[in-house]
Amino acid sequence: MSMDIVKGMLTTLKNMGKKPTTISFPEQERELPPRFRGRHVLHRYENELERCVGCYLCAGACPADAIYIEAEENTEENRVSAGERYARVFDVNMLRCIFCGYCQAACPTGAITLEKEYKLASFYPEDLIFHKEQLLEPKGQATTGSNDVWAEQPPADADQPVPQETQVFDGSSASAAAVGLGTLHTEQKVLIVNEEQDEDRRKL
Ligand code: SF4
Ligand code: SF4
Repeated sequence: MSMDIVKGMLTTLKNMGKKPTTISFPEQERELPPRFRGRHVLHRYENELERCVGCYLCAGACPADAIYIEAEENTEENRVSAGERYARVFDVNMLRCIFCGYCQAACPTGAITLEKEYKLASFYPEDLIFHKEQLLEPKGQATTGSNDVWAEQPPADADQPVPQETQVFDGSSASAAAVGLGTLHTEQKVLIVNEEQDEDRRKL
């Protein structure tokens, strides 16, 4: 018997009786870490309006070119989101997605998050392009999703990162668009709260 076989058997004997590190998926499933990034979800506000304002920032941030959006204007008769526009088409191609989370980080309204669903196998590639209808939260079930664990909540007295009048912005609970202030008042000073910084910026 060669030494290699003896070494192999010793390793086997050493590990016999130890708790296995594998699990019997799919009967058993591991508990996922709070910041696990799985399938995307599009969120609504509690008033059922969609958070997505069709700004394309997520698509622009996506390194895999996995997001396809077609935006359309809201009208008084058909108000879908709280902003000027909404996403009429919103597709995420899971075959391209690398689950980096850049889309979630780029979204100014907390509209898109990566959640815990990871069982995404399919026999047909076209089934792995998820459309808005599949991604959007049902009415009456609005959540902020994993933004709760990713987003650092600002202190109550924080300066505002976007211009709006309620003094409440955290990217999730409220936004300029969410409070009906998607149209900026250009005569107001925005974004700059420190006069010195303001002067410095003007010099650049
Ligand atoms: S998680 Fe990353 S790769 Fe996937 S859609 Fe978002 S930005 Fe693109
Ligand atoms: S999900 Fe967010 S970043 Fe993407 S288009 Fe909608 S509002 Fe813009």
